[in-house]
Amino acid sequence: METILFLAHTEPDGSLAKAALEALGTALDLSRALSGAALVAGIVGGQVEAAAGRIAKCGAQRFLGVSGKAFSESRYASDAAAAEALCRASQATLVIAPATSRWSRSLAGVAQRLNGRIDTHAASVQIANGQPAVSRWYYRQRMEAVLQREERPWVILLDPGCHEPWSGEAGSAAVESIPVALAAERTTVTGFHSPSADQQTIRPDAKLLFVAGAGWTKKQPDGRVHIADAEKLILNFLRLARASLGSSKSLVDLSGEGQTVLPFLTHLNQVGQTGSTPRHPKGLSACCHGEEPHVVGWRFIDERRAINLDPNCGWARGKADVLYVADAFEVMAKVNKLLAERA
Ligand SMILES: Cc1cc2nc3c(=O)[nH]c(=O)nc-3n(C[C@H](O)[C@H](O)[C@H](O)COP(=O)(O)OP(=O)(O)OC[C@H]3O[C@@H](n4cnc5c(N)ncnc54)[C@H](O)[C@@H]3O)c2cc1C
Repeated sequence: METILFLAHTEPDGSLAKAALEALGTALDLSRALSGAALVAGIVGGQVEAAAGRIAKCGAQRFLGVSGKAFSESRYASDAAAAEALCRASQATLVIAPATSRWSRSLAGVAQRLNGRIDTHAASVQIANGQPAVSRWYYRQRMEAVLQREERPWVILLDPGCHEPWSGEAGSAAVESIPVALAAERTTVTGFHSPSADQQTIRPDAKLLFVAGAGWTKKQPDGRVHIADAEKLILNFLRLARASLGSSKSLVDLSGEGQTVLPFLTHLNQVGQTGSTPRHPKGLSACCHGEEPHVVGWRFIDERRAINLDPNCGWARGKADVLYVADAFEVMAKVNKLLAERA
């Protein structure tokens, strides 16, 4: 019989992130589907009571916590020690955790210490032949595989956006505190450097992904480039539509080649085979050709539209639901005007 450990860490304000509640939803489904399975919740953080209270009514049999100042911050040594202690205390055979940067960095090491196994980037956990099975994508979302393992404990890192977040009522939970003896700390967390909210263009929860392609920096029909106009149009649209900004590889590569570029784009914005595969209900691409290595990153965009001057661009070949054969500078100026009137 399996013992399922839902493993979470708190956010700086003591809450649980949406990704953690999604992982809890998966752990619950699994505990219901596997006969005789037990569900344990394990939380790591500076203080864990509020987070445990948030999920008090989820149906977990036990709530375990590792808390204290050393566990409020993301640090490999303390995160791995805390997760290992929770796995041992719960005697977990299956560990379901959200693929946050903290867990993605530390849980492979924990699986190794426990002589277990880990699978990352899981898109779902189901039951096949009465046993748990993880599905995940390979080769940049071109192939989906379903994996089963006999080794235990089996740690599964669940990608965000793959399950509805658990949304039950809060309550109060009796948290069993698990002691963790830490070796002398060699890593000191001094703080975070993050861009201001205005500069933050990657918004995973946005309803719309706006993808900018290299066409924004190319000579336009008047024989000139219009970088300043492109920058204004794109940033205005992001502000008005609260969209997330993606980019083609060609556009972000330009900066490395010393060409005039859009300064707010980095390789983190790149969508595609060698970039990211974001999840958004809608996507709008402008001035991007829609070649396969780029469009493969649109796997999880449900409704796709593109603006391109070229009626034979890649989007026209079944890759977009709607292609506007038009000048993106003109279209986006008009769209921004309409959005501003509505705001
Ligand atoms: C191994 C490998 C991995 C790769 N990985 C990725 C990846 O992860 N992501 C990625 O994006 N690419 C990737 N590529 C590159 C990819 O094949 C394309 O080269 C790249 O996506 C092209 O970028 P683009 O469409 O922005 O630029 P271009 O191909 O230069 O297209 C610009 C487009 O803008 C249009 N345009 C110009 N002006 C306007 C206007 N005023 N209005 C409307 N349209 C206009 C043009 O018609 C043109 O179609 C990869 C390639 C390889 C070989």
